[in-house]
Amino acid sequence: MFFDILTLFPSMFQGAFSDSIINRAVEKGVISISIHNIRDYSDDDRHKTVDDYPFGGDAGMLIKPQPLSKAICDAKKRLEGMEPVVVYLSPQGELLNQSVVESLLNEKSLILLCGRYKGIDQRITQKYVDREISIGDYVLSGGEIPAMVLVDAVTRLIPGVLGNRDSAEGDSFYNGLLSHPQYTRPRDFEGMGVPEILLSGHHAKILEWKKEQALKLTKQKRPDLLEKYCKKTGKEL
Ligand code: SAM
Repeated sequence: MFFDILTLFPSMFQGAFSDSIINRAVEKGVISISIHNIRDYSDDDRHKTVDDYPFGGDAGMLIKPQPLSKAICDAKKRLEGMEPVVVYLSPQGELLNQSVVESLLNEKSLILLCGRYKGIDQRITQKYVDREISIGDYVLSGGEIPAMVLVDAVTRLIPGVLGNRDSAEGDSFYNGLLSHPQYTRPRDFEGMGVPEILLSGHHAKILEWKKEQALKLTKQKRPDLLEKYCKKTGKEL
């Protein structure tokens, strides 16, 4: 999958994408990430201005439509033939959850538009944006962190990215439930043991325990998820 990121702060992505799973996915050629500075598309040759005052007297500044439109059109040219979907990271978008992440897995390429200041001119959303995605009901200073979250969440689900070590199977949300509790060595930590069943070597019983625990934890922590799970699977609990 190709991620084309449009931002006013390209350097923010260096650390986030240079280690671990994302970097391995890039090295394996499973994903490709290219980052472009919206400022480079400004038609203001002297100051490279990208923002202006909003009409109507609101406080703050907005990113002007001109550099955004040019940046998006250029990204679409780069991704020609790869049916790019333009995603604007925005607090007003649909909430990012595992099913939204899974829906993005079908795309060949994504153009991720990161806003700043008070956001972007509405006409850009109207003309170019296919999907608006929010990472939560709070307002951040920019779309860069949401874009990193989205790239990470999508990439780890692409087949071949995770090895056994980091496997997504068994993670929370993978099958609609939270993950069961997990333990590692030592067997005794500050007087606390590990559930005997996990040490029994009895695979069928261990599997049963994990399922029970996942249901129990989901009921305790996220009853809303359990309700959805029951509706989807037709199970009654
Ligand atoms: N004035 C906008 C509003 O009230 O909807 C908020 C602008 S916010 C300060 C600046 C930028 O941060 C947005 O354009 C968006 O790209 C990004 N952003 C802020 N919160 C976000 C969130 N929860 N999810 C995704 N992007 C967000």
